Amino acid sequence: MSNRLNTFLNLQGQTNQSPYLIDVDKAEGVYIWDKSGKKYIDMIAGVAVNNIGHRHPKVIEAIQNQLDKHLHVMVYGEYIQDTQLDLAKSLASILPDNLNCSYIVNSGTEANEAAIKLAKRYTGRQEIISCKNSYHGSTHGSLSVTGNEEKQSSFKPLLPNIKFITFNDVDSLNLITEDSACVIIETIQGDAGLIKPTQEFISALRDKCTVTGTLSIFDEVQVGMGRTGKFFAFEHYNVIPDILTLGKALGGGMPIGAFISSTEIMHSLTHNPMLGHITTFGGHPINCTAANACINVLKEENWIIEAERKGQILEDILSKSDQVKEIRRAGLFLAVDLGSQKKVAQVVEKCLENGIIGFWFLSTPTAFRLSPPLSITEKEIREAGEVILKCI
Ligand code: PLP
Repeated sequence: MSNRLNTFLNLQGQTNQSPYLIDVDKAEGVYIWDKSGKKYIDMIAGVAVNNIGHRHPKVIEAIQNQLDKHLHVMVYGEYIQDTQLDLAKSLASILPDNLNCSYIVNSGTEANEAAIKLAKRYTGRQEIISCKNSYHGSTHGSLSVTGNEEKQSSFKPLLPNIKFITFNDVDSLNLITEDSACVIIETIQGDAGLIKPTQEFISALRDKCTVTGTLSIFDEVQVGMGRTGKFFAFEHYNVIPDILTLGKALGGGMPIGAFISSTEIMHSLTHNPMLGHITTFGGHPINCTAANACINVLKEENWIIEAERKGQILEDILSKSDQVKEIRRAGLFLAVDLGSQKKVAQVVEKCLENGIIGFWFLSTPTAFRLSPPLSITEKEIREAGEVILKCI
């Protein structure tokens, strides 16, 4: 074993027993190169992070400009900083009126933790409603609302007072009552293997929240920022949450998360107790300026509009294989179901050998996922699609 591999496997904390082990040298646009010079088309984008591609020049420029001004200066929320103001304005410009106040944190899971706290604080209620087969992050609170017994069982006790509804089962919405502080839901379930809500379900959920005074939290950490063909997935369904959580692609490649609500709801974190959610590095200037550049790029380019067409091209190519049992897709986010865990492992491995990076789902062993940068060209998507088809 090389020294480098040994260090990775033994001195770096590991998360699974068979890591990908691509030894990264550099990344640009839709490509990643390893240390041997092998070039990969990145059809995962760091798991739905690099929506505008790797090292977008506008992100690099924004970071470089900010490096000359200041890095961290104070815990979140005390000083007025250009990069945070710009990002707050930028987010408000692409969101509905009731989602005008954003609180910038460090990750998707922190955004969900804080959103749940905000809902409890605002409503004065304790009960939380979540969905079976959901994924909301790996810290204790987010894990508590992650509807996956296998992921939870070794870490109990988790948060109490959580009830799980079934995604797309309108009857189960009866669990939402005047005792419920919030419902947290992925607008489109990602790690469950890409399950879209029915219009009936998501509208009924929204209505039920309104009637019972329960805050709806839509987790768009994975499906936000253009991935599904709209800036935000809820725009497909004509419903607006009370709180939105973002992460991943928001930072243009830098680590960030955000929870967003109306100013009225958000300001309940300022008292009783004051400092209702605090985070030292939330709103870090480098990450905020990168996020701001990322939003500007997504506004200027046609990539969000084209996500549906490009996704369809990929779906059409992969559908040619009789090994493919089903493709579930939202824009440029695909779950390719082969009906067998073994086949998925073989195909993902073959793809890697052939210079294509695909990836697993956390909870759906029979499918693999594709979520390339939205900046991928039609030529690149056809090229990648044909290689994946051959591997299948
Ligand atoms: N919510 C959803 C829907 C996610 O897919 C993820 C990560 O995959 C998270 C939350 C957690 O985000 P992070 O890994 O940044 O904590």
